[in-house]
Amino acid sequence: MSRVFNFSAGPAVLPEEVLREAADEMLDYKGSGMSVMEMSHRSKVYDDIIKDAEKDLRDLLNIPDNYKVLFLQGGASQQFAAVPMNLMKKKKAGYILTGQWAKKAYSEAKMYGEAVELASSADKTFSYIPDVSDLPITEDMDYVYICENNTIYGTKYKTLPNTKGIDLVADVSSCFLSEPMDVTKYAVIYGGVQKNVGPAGVVIDIIREDLITDDVLPGTPTMLKWKTQSDNDSLYNTPPCYGIYICGKVFKWLKAMGGLGEMKKRNEEKAKILYDYLDQSSLFKGTVVKEDRSLMNVPFVTGNEDLDKEFVAEATKAGFVNLKGHRTVGGMRASIYNAMPKEGVEKLVEFMEKFEESHK
Ligand SMILES: *Cc1c(COP(=O)(O)O)cnc(C)c1O
Repeated sequence: MSRVFNFSAGPAVLPEEVLREAADEMLDYKGSGMSVMEMSHRSKVYDDIIKDAEKDLRDLLNIPDNYKVLFLQGGASQQFAAVPMNLMKKKKAGYILTGQWAKKAYSEAKMYGEAVELASSADKTFSYIPDVSDLPITEDMDYVYICENNTIYGTKYKTLPNTKGIDLVADVSSCFLSEPMDVTKYAVIYGGVQKNVGPAGVVIDIIREDLITDDVLPGTPTMLKWKTQSDNDSLYNTPPCYGIYICGKVFKWLKAMGGLGEMKKRNEEKAKILYDYLDQSSLFKGTVVKEDRSLMNVPFVTGNEDLDKEFVAEATKAGFVNLKGHRTVGGMRASIYNAMPKEGVEKLVEFMEKFEESHK
């Protein structure tokens, strides 16, 4: 067996310990005589799995009691519609456009009401986070929406927008559990788990309880109404059982590593290794303004498309895979999520140094 260093933006690397444990439990989960894939989602043994997962997530993020945790399907993209369907009571919301995922959420919201562009960094290919200290937010808005870490462009909000008292909704797919966050600053937090937490197929929503009501837009499907899911503790229908089980294992892994404060420290160390190298390299350069750099997704270029291609091909041969940038930006992108060991980043930088040396 040989595992590569996988820099994929998602689905992405998972902790090896978690994969091994899951492998050990594959045929017979804790004496049940079956795998987690084969058991009823209404069984006692599965109930323990999903309840434990929720409890561990609550511990990790210090989620207050007045927030519900939902394990849902449909990915982050489905929440692009669920958010306006559940929240757009006054039919108006503000969106900050910092990349493709924010833009997609914005386009989706337009189908349900008035989505207002509050700010955008499209003028410089989303390479920075706009000033969000004094946005044209009005009282008649139901919520203000951000994508907190921009997976494709490699930017992250270092301070949350001043929402002037309006509820904040955040897509945290690619920074979820990479560092502590103050849940009370948000009305809704959601993330597809395949970036930093688990296998594709699960999206986790953390929603302030007063926002979970029957007062949703007419025509909202039963499945997309948060109240349906909340009343049934994420078991209205068959949930993505195996995915939730793996997320639960990752939560335990994070706790064993020391929690999110410790993860933040490690993620800062890892990112620094790569950014420090990029800042002094004469071949490679980062594409994001320094103060808005993501700890999770690091895009970089040589400035020459052919050389980019050659680098990606040689890196792949050397066991550093999925470094090709997103199809809309080109260049390279190294995603260095929680489960990417420091060694992976160190070795990548060594490889980049050698490549630079041989391409002078
Ligand atoms: C990947 C990603 C999405 C889309 O996730 P799906 O689960 O594929 O729908 C949305 N937002 C962000 C920030 C992402 O990184």
